[in-house]
Amino acid sequence: MPVNAAGARILVVEDEPVINQAVTDRLRGSGYEVVQAWDGPGAVEQFTETAPDLVVLDVMLPGFDGHEVCRRIQAARPVPVLMLTARDDEADILVGLGVGADDYLTKPFRMRELVARVGALLRRVERAAELATRTTTADLGDLRVDSASRRVWVADTEVHLTPTEFDLLACLAASPGVVLTRENLYAEVWGWPGASGTRTVDSHVKALRAKIGAERVRTVHGVGYALETGGAA
Ligand code: CA
Repeated sequence: MPVNAAGARILVVEDEPVINQAVTDRLRGSGYEVVQAWDGPGAVEQFTETAPDLVVLDVMLPGFDGHEVCRRIQAARPVPVLMLTARDDEADILVGLGVGADDYLTKPFRMRELVARVGALLRRVERAAELATRTTTADLGDLRVDSASRRVWVADTEVHLTPTEFDLLACLAASPGVVLTRENLYAEVWGWPGASGTRTVDSHVKALRAKIGAERVRTVHGVGYALETGGAA
């Protein structure tokens, strides 16, 4: 049974009218309130005016592209973003995840999967609250993770993470030193099972490392990741 965050408002950004309307109709049919935009500037304007809870965002758009839209809206207010990309365009996918998209779907996609991913991203808000009750403060050498306030410090300096980066770190910090598979991390943090999320996990680990120090997250090749338990040497 699909889970709808009751009353959730979704901004659908897509310049192809048929796809935009099909996505909009399907999401409305699933109980969401939907607002639409058809180009880059229109997307930023609608985002500001309607304050959506989630954005479904096509990459190729008139005006400026979906990556630029994502940069601008994430700078204004963090919000879950599901990017729509051309099939197998890995460069597009990595750029999208690098500018703050939480997940992506490649075209053509099934409407059913889109609705499921939207539901999973919206449920992450609840999951974040759940993670917060499981770990309060984790001290890992000079890395400190406070799940209640969702704040992180490295050697007494506060580090600012995106909501997704924080959830990923909190998940790793709940089991320090334990290797978590990319599939498990994706299921836990994104709330959606499946091997399709491995690139999404890799990209967010990369961003997390850049902020807290590469040596703190150990890669177990072909398996997954573990948070180092000691401080920086
Ligand atoms: Ca397009």
